[in-house]
Amino acid sequence: MNNNKIESAAVFVLPALPYADNALAPVISANTISFHYGKHHKAYVDNLNKLIVGTEFADLSLEKIITATADKADKAAIFNNAAQAWNHAFYWNSLIPKGGGEPPTALKQKIEASFGTVDACRKELFTAATTQFGSGWAWLALDGDKLKMIKIGNADSPLTKSMKPLLTIDVWEHAYYLDYQNRRPDYVNAVINKLINWGFAADNLRK
Ligand code: MN
Repeated sequence: MNNNKIESAAVFVLPALPYADNALAPVISANTISFHYGKHHKAYVDNLNKLIVGTEFADLSLEKIITATADKADKAAIFNNAAQAWNHAFYWNSLIPKGGGEPPTALKQKIEASFGTVDACRKELFTAATTQFGSGWAWLALDGDKLKMIKIGNADSPLTKSMKPLLTIDVWEHAYYLDYQNRRPDYVNAVINKLINWGFAADNLRK
């Protein structure tokens, strides 16, 4: 392959983390971030750039690439890397140092209309994240005018299901194994109570 060509067509860049690499500790350590962001997320972006160079996808937005390649077996590699690049950027923003707590009012009202209480919403998020079998993601998403909690395997996201993602928790083992080993529920519980970024979800709801 021609490396210069790949270099010049590398349209997607790894977005900067919205906080310092140690800002989520001790819930998520700087060591986990160094691999999860610095290796895994970066690899999805780098692989995507290599896969789309010279193709019909080279000039499309990440979202358009994802929806155009979803469920197409011959485009699975592009889909997986594009969706994982998108999902990870969304995940970093779904977390915030000193997060958790109560959602902003408009989101809180929407949550109460859809789940009954914020606590019930937290429980559904916990259940979705801990019962996703194998690699995948738990999502709070807007489906029509109702909020839904969904779990999806591997790289998939609500974008392929005509839903609007509001926030997500990565439950691939690489998200928690260095800090929690096999204790996914401990990771999920700590993320929901100490890091989840309700403000980001509220911003997405308004969009
Ligand atoms: Mn991940």
